[in-house]
Amino acid sequence: MASLFTLANPKLAALQPYVPGKPVDELKRELGLSDVVKLASNENPLGVSPAVPIAIAAALQDVARYPDGNGFALKQAIAAHYAVDTSQITLGNGSNDVLDLIVRCFAAGTDEVVYSQYAFAVYAIATQSVGAVGVEVPALNYGHDLPAMLAAIGPQCKMVFVANPNNPTGTYFNQAALLSFIQQVPAHVLVVLDEAYVEYDPTLTDSVALLRQFSNLIICRSFSKAYGLAGLRVGFALASSGVTEVLNRVRQPFNVNSLAQAAAIAALHDQAFVEATRQHNNLGMAQMLAGLAQLGLQVLPSKGNFVCVQLPMAGQVLFEQLLKLGVIVRPLQGYAMHNFVRISIGTTSENDSCLSALKQVLGGTYV
Ligand SMILES: *Cc1c(COP(=O)(O)O)cnc(C)c1O
Repeated sequence: MASLFTLANPKLAALQPYVPGKPVDELKRELGLSDVVKLASNENPLGVSPAVPIAIAAALQDVARYPDGNGFALKQAIAAHYAVDTSQITLGNGSNDVLDLIVRCFAAGTDEVVYSQYAFAVYAIATQSVGAVGVEVPALNYGHDLPAMLAAIGPQCKMVFVANPNNPTGTYFNQAALLSFIQQVPAHVLVVLDEAYVEYDPTLTDSVALLRQFSNLIICRSFSKAYGLAGLRVGFALASSGVTEVLNRVRQPFNVNSLAQAAAIAALHDQAFVEATRQHNNLGMAQMLAGLAQLGLQVLPSKGNFVCVQLPMAGQVLFEQLLKLGVIVRPLQGYAMHNFVRISIGTTSENDSCLSALKQVLGGTYV
């Protein structure tokens, strides 16, 4: 019998599925370890605001009901926080859902979608999943080469993805570079600006201010990173009301569940937790960079809660050796970055465990 795969859209044959970080429980099961440090998925090592479990407990009373399909209260909270109108907000089951939705709404057939080499893998996956044409622009020093990306925007181009900072590289650009880029993108091409890590350095850009000027700009944000809600899946897009109307037409009516909506509102209202997260990350980043430097390792510049480390060996080999020591990092062969791993910034003791394990594997002088 022919493989059922032959029934699928032929363009899906080339699709490389997203490779998630290895779950803690899986490693515990496999190696019988009790102590595992996971620095593989850029989660918040501080957990969540104390207001979040309280909000979830209250929302639990109503789980027999469908969630608010329009996310009224969450949109009100987001609108107030960012000084935008609720007609500019699209909620998603994680920002991944929003990224996927944008591609589904605006690209098909021979339409082109431009993104950078080493950019977040979801852009290529979403593009391939609708059968549109992905145009990958070679990176510059592992970051986005914005002038080259502009030059790659041809007559068939529908949208260009830019991640700032980018995952997995951590590379970033400032407001002047962003503004100059958007100014040069034709008005009929969407600029999808993915800012999943923006809370770690809010001084980097003020992209929300650009929404007033550019109706082709879509900003994607996530509650999974600094807000610590990765397991609940909430993200959103800010855009012109015209673009937002299209996105909400195609969006599944109940794509953000009721516990997630309640948790996101509580998380957004506790900006002190976000500030604590930022400070904790700054300290952890300094600790990690100093430790990696002692080990003689080079890193890419990062403005996120993770660092991309260049290795004298294959990333996959280091990944496997660190697993045996109970430390999970992220190998990057899916990005063809064979001699790199991505390491999330954890707590002081998690960072220390990771650096000690690295020293054991690599030799070196870390103490
Ligand atoms: C983590 C991440 C996302 C997706 O986050 P969600 O959990 O789906 O909200 C989007 N973009 C980048 C660059 C990320 O690193």
